[in-house]
Amino acid sequence: MKITVIGTGYVGLVSGTCLADVGNDVLCLDLDATKIRTLNEGGIPIYEPGLEAMVKKNVAAGRLRFTTDIETAVAHGVLQFIAVGTPPDEDGSADLQYVVAAARNVGRHMTGYKVVVDKSTVPVGTADKVRVAIAEELAARGAKIDFSVVSNPEFLKEGAAVDDFMKPDRIVVGADDSRAIELMRELYAPFQRNHERLIVMDVKSAELTKYAANAMLATRISFMNELANLAEKLGADIELVRKGIGSDPRIGFHFLYPGVGYGGSCFPKDVQALIRTAQEAGQALQVLQAVEAANEAQKGVLAQKITKRLGADLSGKTFALWGLAFKPNTDDMREAPSLVLIADLLARGASIRAYDPVAAHEAQRILGENPRIHYAATPMDALDGADALAIVTEWKEFRSPDFEAIKARLKTPVIFDGRNLYDPATPRKAGLEYFPIGRL
Ligand code: NAD
Repeated sequence: MKITVIGTGYVGLVSGTCLADVGNDVLCLDLDATKIRTLNEGGIPIYEPGLEAMVKKNVAAGRLRFTTDIETAVAHGVLQFIAVGTPPDEDGSADLQYVVAAARNVGRHMTGYKVVVDKSTVPVGTADKVRVAIAEELAARGAKIDFSVVSNPEFLKEGAAVDDFMKPDRIVVGADDSRAIELMRELYAPFQRNHERLIVMDVKSAELTKYAANAMLATRISFMNELANLAEKLGADIELVRKGIGSDPRIGFHFLYPGVGYGGSCFPKDVQALIRTAQEAGQALQVLQAVEAANEAQKGVLAQKITKRLGADLSGKTFALWGLAFKPNTDDMREAPSLVLIADLLARGASIRAYDPVAAHEAQRILGENPRIHYAATPMDALDGADALAIVTEWKEFRSPDFEAIKARLKTPVIFDGRNLYDPATPRKAGLEYFPIGRL
């Protein structure tokens, strides 16, 4: 099939590449000329495991191309995927300007039937707005051309995006016309050869499903973070509690890990957007409001532990930071809890020596040049001249460090672990002070 993907970010590039990999002819459009130039020169603008090789393979096979030319992109695909950003507006609602602009471009240039597929995470009612935008553009040039609008929210996880797209748990398609549903079935047939994974529903339910999924996952995280803080006060161990409840199949182990709060480009904005949607509908989502408030508070937990141990004035002190990305296996720094910790430490006069396997360049871009932030080449280099170590992201390579070597390098042998990576006895046996989350 001929497919156009509008927006070549984390979702657009992964979706476009995976769709090309099963034999489709995919053209990816982005208005960011630098991104498209990078891709056309054989580079990859983001870090995502397995993506680079897959892009190269499909470009070489002639099935995957990149352009900034809107007219060519609209002419290419019967399916026009909208995968542009939907960042939070000032009031927390999803900013739909990019989605609507993309839809208008399709309406302005289409000359034959198109299925416009909303892959971006968009509030209930957005498909109607997309439909109106396209219809207005068609009317403006006196054109009468059929089109369908479909909601097909994306559930991939950054860090495992290629795998998630190639082996989806489910594919949600919200549509109300059979022609579009048939095309979507055909498109996704290669991704569900062993199991039927397509769930067809009405458009509004599909739009709400994406928010419901992210809101549920965020709820589990905030719930565990609050329980972790309580466990600490009561002298209980949240890691044992986690095992004790996760073994109940009704609960399960996923998303029960306490830490420094959720971040990233999805959970924070999607939770806020769903709260706004509910407010506009005259309903308060009380649980979700608490989820959001608990998460904001949790981002400050590591700094609280640090100041409790080392004092509120940290001037002259240096902190080694392991991990910058909001989670492992990505370079995405959007809403990363590390940014909150860094801002707090800097405000208290401290300096930072940070290490992240892939996100350092992105952190540098966001934080700018700062003489008090140094980016180290290895985890051990980050410790040189540091007073203490704070762990913010649970990269695999931090899981089994040489604690004796850490102790030898740190001025004050103390670890603040925002991800509960270790059995507390292990660093303590090496003579380190160790402060995890939700356990003593
Ligand atoms: P992103 O910021 O990485 O990419 C969006 C891209 O769209 C950018 O490259 C931007 O230049 C481009 N763009 C904006 N307007 C355009 C236009 N009119 N025409 C062409 N290109 C345009 O965003 P992302 O992380 O890929 O997220 C995209 C959507 O998918 C969001 O709604 C997000 O909530 C949702 N989503 C993201 C993830 C994730 O893990 N990142 C997962 C599921 C769903």
